[in-house]
Amino acid sequence: MLQEQEAHAAELERTFIAIKPDGVQRGLIAEVISRFERKGFKLVAIKIVVPSKDFAQKHYHDLKERPFFNGLCDFLSSGPVVAMVWEGEGVIRYGRKLIGATDPQKSEPGTIRGDLAVIVGRNIIHGSDGPETAKDEIALWFKPEELVKYTSNAEKWIYGN
Ligand code: GDP
Ligand code: MG
Repeated sequence: MLQEQEAHAAELERTFIAIKPDGVQRGLIAEVISRFERKGFKLVAIKIVVPSKDFAQKHYHDLKERPFFNGLCDFLSSGPVVAMVWEGEGVIRYGRKLIGATDPQKSEPGTIRGDLAVIVGRNIIHGSDGPETAKDEIALWFKPEELVKYTSNAEKWIYGN
């Protein structure tokens, strides 16, 4: 039990989550935040920004050879994006589960994209796909001092210590 507690105290897994301009314009900010919050993940950074095209290209650099890259970057930089960092045990992988498959036609009902989006080019949310991308994306979107360290009152009820 003590070991479990220590393991949790050392656990600081973080992921980068962004509500894209379609999610913001459709009034889905609270809905998305609520799903991560109710699960038990902890919000440690949040801001609303309109990224430049250049910034969007940096964010999606691994997709630069894809035919939809230009349209995707135009879209991401077309309006406000809510950029967030969420923390918790397994948050990178489970965050992707909450989000659902890339193509909303294939996302399961109950997931964010499954419940709230219809086409792949307007799938409302981004989430890091692994530990390395999470680290890189958090560093791209946030300065270290924008990440807030705090103990949530709910933690002892979520993790049992
Ligand atoms: P994600 O990690 O689930 O967001 O998916 P990817 O990293 O593969 O792609 C990034 C984003 O590019 C997706 O969220 C979609 O908005 C967009 N995208 C991916 N595949 C396609 C596609 O085939 N067509 C179009 N138009 N957009 C795509
Ligand atoms: Mg991706």
